[in-house]
Amino acid sequence: MTKYIVVAGGVISGVGKGVTTASLGKILKEYGYRVTAVKIDPYMNYDAGTLRPTEHGEVWVTDDGGEIDQDLGNYERFLDVAISKKNNLTTGQIYKTIIDKERAGGYLGETVQFIPHVPNEIKRRVTEAAEGYDICLIEIGGTIGDFENIAYFFAMKSLERELGKENITYILVTYLPIPSHIEEMKTKPTQQAIRLLSQNGILPDFIVCRAARALDDVRKRKIEVMGNIPLDHIISEPDIDTIYRIPLDLEKEGVGLKVLNKLHLKPRQKPNWKNWEKLVNGITDPKKEVTIGIVGKYLDIGDYTLADSYISINQALLHVGAALGVKVTIFWIDSKEFEQHPEKVKSVGNYDGIIVPGGFGTSGIEGKIAAIKYARENDIPFLGLCYGLQLAIVEFARNVCGITGAHTVEVEEGCSDPVISIQESQRKIVEERKYGGTMRLGAYAAVLKKGSQIAKLYHDTNRDVKDEKRIKELQKQGDQEFRLGKLGHGPVVLERHRHRYEVNPEYIDKIESQGLVFSGHHEREDGTLLMEFIELPKNKFHIGTQAHPEFKSNLEDPAPLFLGFIEAALRK
Ligand code: GLN
Repeated sequence: MTKYIVVAGGVISGVGKGVTTASLGKILKEYGYRVTAVKIDPYMNYDAGTLRPTEHGEVWVTDDGGEIDQDLGNYERFLDVAISKKNNLTTGQIYKTIIDKERAGGYLGETVQFIPHVPNEIKRRVTEAAEGYDICLIEIGGTIGDFENIAYFFAMKSLERELGKENITYILVTYLPIPSHIEEMKTKPTQQAIRLLSQNGILPDFIVCRAARALDDVRKRKIEVMGNIPLDHIISEPDIDTIYRIPLDLEKEGVGLKVLNKLHLKPRQKPNWKNWEKLVNGITDPKKEVTIGIVGKYLDIGDYTLADSYISINQALLHVGAALGVKVTIFWIDSKEFEQHPEKVKSVGNYDGIIVPGGFGTSGIEGKIAAIKYARENDIPFLGLCYGLQLAIVEFARNVCGITGAHTVEVEEGCSDPVISIQESQRKIVEERKYGGTMRLGAYAAVLKKGSQIAKLYHDTNRDVKDEKRIKELQKQGDQEFRLGKLGHGPVVLERHRHRYEVNPEYIDKIESQGLVFSGHHEREDGTLLMEFIELPKNKFHIGTQAHPEFKSNLEDPAPLFLGFIEAALRK
């Protein structure tokens, strides 16, 4: 029987409920349990696909093509498992399902009501996502006291009644402020959060206290008495140097065994943190440093939001840094600067490498193309992700192949040489403005060119699959859903996608004749060719991918292209 851990947040949002949940999952996995995690987003959006990244952070993509809140990314990065889109619930999904069912006569004349139909649908989805796992963590987004959370707490309480209290435990993650004028840590907001949670009939079994500093005994005892929580269930989680230290710190407080005990479980194995500790040291005590410029269009947003908009790229670079003992310092470069002041593009040479990340729309595009040109001509390591690959092709077509009218139709619909174009099915979607969930989404298989740089990078990191039977097996594994297409010969790799536009096959021969290699492709069952990777063999590292390999990077298994990129940056 699956056991559940419900994680809710008190006081304020943004205190690290997601990484706390992910860390807890990692700990329980270390004790030998099969763990999964569900994120509840109480907003009305159906999914995160139409949310602006500067509003809500990056849109995370799952193997099965979900466009999800970035917290699912944390779960994958800590748990090293692929998590399905069904592990993300939004109020929009719940209501849509209920209303669709009602319209189809599915309630057989019943009155459809907030209680019980909404909590029932929540429970149905949560238990479905938990199937096949020993422990399922459920993180409830937002902060306790939000109106939009009520149905979810009601559903959890109802699940508790059905399963028995020994099978569900509640963790409240709160924040303890230290007002600067008194320099004293205050427990009152936490006491109030406990009271707010209790209004749902739920008392927390554990409290995780986030704060700038560690909790002292006086404060722990105060929470014990005021909140009626056993002292050893009050866990201190102060700010630290890297989020990857959190599982180690929580274990110092014995969280793993305490939670297992509460769920009437015994450890199945002794945790082994050796490798994790080594990687954390690689982050906190690096021996070398590289500087990476990320060239994007950044409008009116501060550093904090930026880091969140590109969290997976940040994390992928951090993972490589941990493995190599290198501090990767990121500089955000606004590509519009290069449009307004073309001479400034030389600054690209100040970095050990540049990334042109994914993006949408028309602004800052020529600046990005100029940066790619400079990197190519001066052999500065370059990694193009999705839009980054598309623009690298536009750049190469224009400046090396002499196709001066080369462009992507996303920017210039009627351009004379659409080297990046749109397929008929996607054109229709755009015309009809059916934007939600309609891009090329999720994991696609790419067949790599034997002997290419890319094939070597995937081979050296053991990420490629050579055996077709093995791929078919992979495909059947639980939550995964891969679009394999025709596989042919050569090593196969699986990466996640989120885009509409594609390399126009008509230009491939002309571009390849000038030295750029298309080193991986996906072939649809109908024979359509989709280009997935490019490389320029004469450069140290001039590589692009139509995919988002940053979605498949975690601390213990960094993404091959990021690894190769940082290794090249180190050689610069
Ligand atoms: N805008 C491009 C497309 O839709 C690239 C998208 C991306 O970078 N994720 O194809």
